[in-house]
Amino acid sequence: MNCLRIASTLLAVGLVALLGAASAAAQSQNRPKLVVAIAVDQLSSDLFAEYRPHFTGGLKRLADGVVFPSGYQSHNATETCPGHSTILTGARPARTGIIANNWFDPSTSREDKQIYCAEDERVPGSTSGKYTVSTYHLRVPALGDLMKRTNPQSRVAAVAGKDRAAVMMGGYSPDQRWWWGGTGFAPDPSRGQPAQAGALVNASIARTLSHARAPFDLSALCGTRSRAVGVAGGGKPVGTGRFAREAGDSRAFRASPELDGATLALAAALQQEMQLGNGPATDLLIVGLSATDYVGHSYGTNGSEMCLQMLALDRSLGDFFGHLDRAGIDYLVVLTSDHGGHDLPERLREHGINEANRVDPTLNAPTMAKALAGRLGLSGPVLYGDGAFGDMYVDRALTPAQRQRVLDEAVRSYRTHPQVAEVFTAAQLRNAPSPTGPPDRWSLLDRARASFDPERSGDFVVLLKPRITPIADTSRGYVATHGSPWDYDRRVPILFWRKGMRPFEQPLAVETVDIMPTLAPLLGVPVPMGTVDGRCLDLAVGSDTTCTQ
Ligand SMILES: [Zn+2]
Repeated sequence: MNCLRIASTLLAVGLVALLGAASAAAQSQNRPKLVVAIAVDQLSSDLFAEYRPHFTGGLKRLADGVVFPSGYQSHNATETCPGHSTILTGARPARTGIIANNWFDPSTSREDKQIYCAEDERVPGSTSGKYTVSTYHLRVPALGDLMKRTNPQSRVAAVAGKDRAAVMMGGYSPDQRWWWGGTGFAPDPSRGQPAQAGALVNASIARTLSHARAPFDLSALCGTRSRAVGVAGGGKPVGTGRFAREAGDSRAFRASPELDGATLALAAALQQEMQLGNGPATDLLIVGLSATDYVGHSYGTNGSEMCLQMLALDRSLGDFFGHLDRAGIDYLVVLTSDHGGHDLPERLREHGINEANRVDPTLNAPTMAKALAGRLGLSGPVLYGDGAFGDMYVDRALTPAQRQRVLDEAVRSYRTHPQVAEVFTAAQLRNAPSPTGPPDRWSLLDRARASFDPERSGDFVVLLKPRITPIADTSRGYVATHGSPWDYDRRVPILFWRKGMRPFEQPLAVETVDIMPTLAPLLGVPVPMGTVDGRCLDLAVGSDTTCTQ
């Protein structure tokens, strides 16, 4: 190498370093003042695609931003708690430890052995039904924790229609955390003095609840969806609902657009009271909108109910963004979902999916356990499980030889059932590598591995065939659900929006665990190597990048 080459190389290196410094400085000046992270519970990619042309409000704004229509909750157990745990941690459930909404701990003295994902069962007197909300089971920090570690002046507030959404997205150290407590929002008592916003919004909710609600007007669009469908399993027909509500009926309030409206009202009030977005550091406002999930479970996804819910959500989000616009804040929005979902089998069959069906009730863990005990001449619970699929646990009170017989016989019984797609044992999952590559190409073993925690997962896991709805008894009000390893439950939209951001649409598959490593460099927040499963999605078009600090 001659001197000239060396000099020009040095110059080039210096120039690159200088450019790097300049862009780092520009980026720190260019950091948004507020990040708004929104999870719409059960907003599948399919639902988003169906209603996208009809959005005119907040969802229209986001749909015109940076759009990843195929974001994957890539794991097997597509439930609320695991799904929310991936969104702001960058980690799959195998790493967050949040493998399901409920799992079983055979070593606990609790009789039902059941543990709720967002509780601390060490609190004396707690049960799986009456629990203390906690981050105890979350194994990794969330974005807000990292922001505060980087700059303690960052403030974090979380509000959600479900405690587990606020806990799993809010992480260990939010300044305020609120969730729907039955007739109003409850503050997380571990987060210090509750904001006054909570009492104000709760008073307004109480006034609203004290009056009956007139049915929503069916727009022309939702009129085309309005048709009654009978439900097997004891449930009432669905498909024509318009959210009329009796005075004081808080359950009906919850399974309607009113819940999201109230949640966004509290989010806006918290922004105002805490002056989020007006401080010296970037703040984080986390919003969990749960009504879409309650509507989906109660009425399915293709009737007038979900149509009205989608249009109301779009309007409410538009109002909320309008509030932030008027406050003059430079904010960045990310919106996604904790899992997808699909319609009830009775209407799926009417809409061309002939094989859709409800689960055979003999697959339910307690029913299966009784049958196994009879066949093997054993007594006691024998097997624990939350329904007809997912993680199953062999009773630890049995002898090792009995446990092996139960495991072998249970795995054989599930595997040979015509509604079961696959059964994996803990040994199989323990030996499987952590999945890599695009999530739409993953095997079923990959998906189950991403949900596997060696301490908390079952002795085996049951995966039902596609289009089998794991609700046999609909008499308690839930007619449709999610939780499967199939793409209708895994695919969710991931939308980014900020004023002035150049829009693009990337249809290839990405993961919800990519969200945190995408946001962190934009905020100057370091993510230690090897602590996340996701990767940064470059939101800048052209030669710029948002993926370096
Ligand atoms: Zn959910």
